[in-house]
Amino acid sequence: MTSLELARAAYREISLYAPDRTPCAIDLSDNTNLFGIPPSARRELQEVVTSAVTRYPPLYSSALKAELGKYIGVAETEVTTGCGSDDVLDSAIRAFAEPGDKLAFPDPTFAMVPIFAKMNGLQPCPIPLRSNWDIDAGALLATGARVFYICSPNNPTSTLASRHQLEKLIGGARGVVILDEAYSEYAPESWASKAPSHSTLLVVRTLSKAFGLAGLRVGYAIGSPPLVMEVEKSRGPYKVNALAERAALAALRQGRDWVQQGIDTVLENRSRFERELRLLRLSPLPSSANFVLFPVADAVALTKNLRGLGVAVRPFTNLPQIGDALRISIGPWEMMEAALSALREAIA
Ligand code: PMP
Repeated sequence: MTSLELARAAYREISLYAPDRTPCAIDLSDNTNLFGIPPSARRELQEVVTSAVTRYPPLYSSALKAELGKYIGVAETEVTTGCGSDDVLDSAIRAFAEPGDKLAFPDPTFAMVPIFAKMNGLQPCPIPLRSNWDIDAGALLATGARVFYICSPNNPTSTLASRHQLEKLIGGARGVVILDEAYSEYAPESWASKAPSHSTLLVVRTLSKAFGLAGLRVGYAIGSPPLVMEVEKSRGPYKVNALAERAALAALRQGRDWVQQGIDTVLENRSRFERELRLLRLSPLPSSANFVLFPVADAVALTKNLRGLGVAVRPFTNLPQIGDALRISIGPWEMMEAALSALREAIA
C-alpha cells in the first residue's frame, strides 16, 4: 500500500498551506501586527518560571477565557480557546458536521476554509460574493449546508458582510454559522458580544492580529454555553500552551492601550495608503481590515518584482469578480512608504 492509499480519501486532494515565507526586508504579506507586541506580554515572556514549562497548562484555559470574556463583554462559559483561531475553526467545523455534510462559504474567502472542510471529510460549497462584496445569504442557504463559514472583514477582500445578509443567514440556517472576526478590531462593528444570544452563531476571534501574538497561537470563540461546550469537546484539553496563556493574559490585562494605539495608527495609515494607491491608478476595495486588496494585471510577476525591491506582499490569482490582485498589510508609515516606492518602480 502506498502512503496515499493509507490516507483517508479526502486527504488525497489536500496540499500543505504554503504561502511564500522567505525572509524579506519589509514583510507586508501576512496581516500580522507590524508594531510588535504589547510590552506587558514581552515582560511576562522574559520572566517565565521553570514550573510554567515543566507542568501542563490549564486544561481548558479557564483564566484566559474569563479575561477574554471581560474583553468582549460575555461570561467565561460563553468563550472557548484554541491553538490559534485556525484550531478553533477546525474544531468547530468538526463539532457541528458529520463527514459528507456540506460546508458553505463565500468565494473568495480565507484560503484555509476549503482545506478545513476536507480535513474533516466535508464537501466545500463556495458561493460567489455579491457584486457589492456582500455575502449572498440566499445562495448560501440554498446549499442546505450543515455549517456556514463567513469571514467579516473578509480575507482577502477586506470587505464587510452586511448586517442584513448576516441576519438572514443566521435566521435561515439549519446548522451553525461560524463568523470569523479575525480582523474585527479594525472594523466599525462586531457580532462577538451578541453571539451568545443567537443559539447557532459562533464568532471566532484571535490574538494574532491587533494583539500582535501570532507566534504564540492564541485563538478564541464566543457563543452560547451549549455551543461552546461542543467546540471544547472537539478541540480537546491543553490546546493553549502555558507561555502563550501567560503572555495573552498580560496583553489583555495591561496591553489594551498599546493595542488601541496600533489600531488607531493602522486606520490612519490605511486611509493614507488607499489615497496613494488611487494616485497610482490602483483601485483598492473598501477595507475594514488591517490590509488592502487591489486588482493588478499579473499578481505573480508583480509580487516577484516587489520582492526584488525588498517588499513582500501576498499575490492572488483569478479571484472571482476580481481577477489577479495584491494584498498588502498596513503597518507603520515608513513601511507603507517603502511599499509605495517599490510599487511606483515596479509598475512604472
Ligand atoms: N481567520 C482569518 C480570516 C485569517 O486571515 C487568519 C490568519 N491568516 C486566521 C483565521 C488564522 O489566524 P490564527 O490561527 O493566527 O488565529
